[in-house]
Amino acid sequence: MRKKQFAVIGLGRFGSSVARSLSDMGFEVLAIDSHEQRVQDLSNEVTFAVTADSTDDDAMRALGIGNFDVVVVAIGEDIQASILTTLVVKELGVRHVIVKAQDELHGKVLHKIGADKVVYPERDMGMRVAHHLIMPNIIDFIELSEEHGIVELKAPEAMIGHSLKELDIRAKYGCNVMGIKNNGRMNISPNANDSIRSGDILVVVGRNQDLTRLETAYS
Ligand code: ADP
Repeated sequence: MRKKQFAVIGLGRFGSSVARSLSDMGFEVLAIDSHEQRVQDLSNEVTFAVTADSTDDDAMRALGIGNFDVVVVAIGEDIQASILTTLVVKELGVRHVIVKAQDELHGKVLHKIGADKVVYPERDMGMRVAHHLIMPNIIDFIELSEEHGIVELKAPEAMIGHSLKELDIRAKYGCNVMGIKNNGRMNISPNANDSIRSGDILVVVGRNQDLTRLETAYS
């Protein structure tokens, strides 16, 4: 099977990190920025690195942007450039365009003009850090929607030795334990009689407010 080809536009902290990671995973990556120095800094780490203005549709057409499977628009601060670039790459026929947004309003506009996925790296990282700060047992938090999320939770002392049935997390907190990790192994469909052992990490899905109730009940 042909490997997916990616283009990353905007090589700030986020864009350069995405480009570098995709390249490390073995994908072909075209990295674009209007700032020559940013392009040079990344040129040894990706397949192609080019200085160009991504709002210039002729320049983007000349680079063959329309042939890429996925284009990541990682221009955050210059909202106008981010929106124009998204329009240009969608018009050139890119199927999957992922765009970094500064805030909700920027994200809304991006969806309206055809972005296939909008990501909010700063907001998501802020949320994760907040969860870690408040609940030391929380290893990770993933937002599924505005209301729902998944948390990875170090099994608190009070749960150890009890089965999922005894803990009754679904009835008490409205959340579902969808997996239990231990020593790198994952039980992906734990049953009611599975007991929680020391060192277990519970992967729990639910409404954010229910997850918080669960976290606080055991903190
Ligand atoms: P981060 O917060 O991830 O560091 P920035 O918004 O600071 O992201 O960086 C965005 C990058 O996008 C910068 O390197 C900037 O030069 C680049 N950029 C901005 N406008 C354009 C454009 N029209 N064409 C190409 N690159 C652009």
